[in-house]
Amino acid sequence: MPVDATSPTANAVEIDNVVKHYGTFTALHGVSMQIGEGEFFTLLGPSGCGKTTLLRCIAGFEDVSEGAIRLHGEDIAPLPPHKREVNTVFQQYALFPHMTVLQNVMFGLQRRGWSGSDASARAKQVIELVQLGQFSERRPGQLSGGQQQRVALARALAPRPKVLLLDEPLSALDLKLRQAVRSELKAIQRETGIAFVFVTHDQEEALTMSDRIAVMSAGHVQQIGSPREIYEAPSNRFVADFIGETNLLDVSVQHVFEDRAEILLPGGAALACPAALGARAGQGHLSLRPERLGLCAAGQGQLQGTVEDHVYLGTDTQLHTRLADGEALVLRVQNGAGIIPERGAQVGIEIEAGAARLLSD
Ligand code: ATP
Repeated sequence: MPVDATSPTANAVEIDNVVKHYGTFTALHGVSMQIGEGEFFTLLGPSGCGKTTLLRCIAGFEDVSEGAIRLHGEDIAPLPPHKREVNTVFQQYALFPHMTVLQNVMFGLQRRGWSGSDASARAKQVIELVQLGQFSERRPGQLSGGQQQRVALARALAPRPKVLLLDEPLSALDLKLRQAVRSELKAIQRETGIAFVFVTHDQEEALTMSDRIAVMSAGHVQQIGSPREIYEAPSNRFVADFIGETNLLDVSVQHVFEDRAEILLPGGAALACPAALGARAGQGHLSLRPERLGLCAAGQGQLQGTVEDHVYLGTDTQLHTRLADGEALVLRVQNGAGIIPERGAQVGIEIEAGAARLLSD
């Protein structure tokens, strides 16, 4: 039964245990997730992890081998791509060079059977939405890369899809433009109120734009959560390492109770910290975010290290240290906040609250 799409609890998209084989190769191993109505949801992971495959399965360009995909509660397996109420913005947005912006946006609507006057009225509306009103008579060659990207977005939004799929749509833009288009895209998503499923391998893009992120690797979902949850409470080594910078320390886990753990750090200091679901007593891995570590005098703090190198980064300095057991530990120290110790100096390292998290693997 279709679910009422206006209900605030309705899921725009449900991915239910989807497996995708290409011959003997398995690109998706039982992937599940629910994407809410009006949500900006990002599939994030390194090249080859299966993000595009999943997007193509939602769009209908690929069949799933096992499992189901539901749009507003309805199984879409029997529907060909053009019957699914989803639309895709691709990395290469291929506008028609001989047509104006208005004609480019109208073209798809007329192919779907819209009359000339309806198509023109709707095209003008979405061209205004992406703030290209004064460019509607220009051809793509007379527009900047960012403006062309917005034409592609207008074209995809024009038929009023219930879900918009975006496959690395910003990757053809240079860094400055990409940063500007990010906030525009987010604003357009809010204004339309439809679910966006956005694919990227760029963690900064994912953190800044998304309501929630699914981190993927090798055809598996590693973690789903808000940008803050993914960054501050990574569940395993893959997520902790892929999102932002982190130190992964080998530690001895004394015991774990619910979501807290007591551990022994290299050098023997005890630490109580949050633990990811699945963390167990024995040998474990601790994620320590470099910007949440503080410097103190040698002999103080929970860890002791020797400074090996500095990297000046403008607002702060990356300090590479070596612990007595040989493990490397990186700190980020704000410039101007104190003296940066010289190479070879012995330092104490303080772990701020919230800096450490015991991982599940
Ligand atoms: P990228 O960021 O590089 O686009 P991705 O995460 O989107 O990567 P996919 O394109 O989904 O990755 O590919 C996932 C895996 O499936 C890859 O190992 C890829 O080589 C493989 N694959 C994709 N399409 C096919 C196909 N048509 N036939 C065989 N293997 C494929």
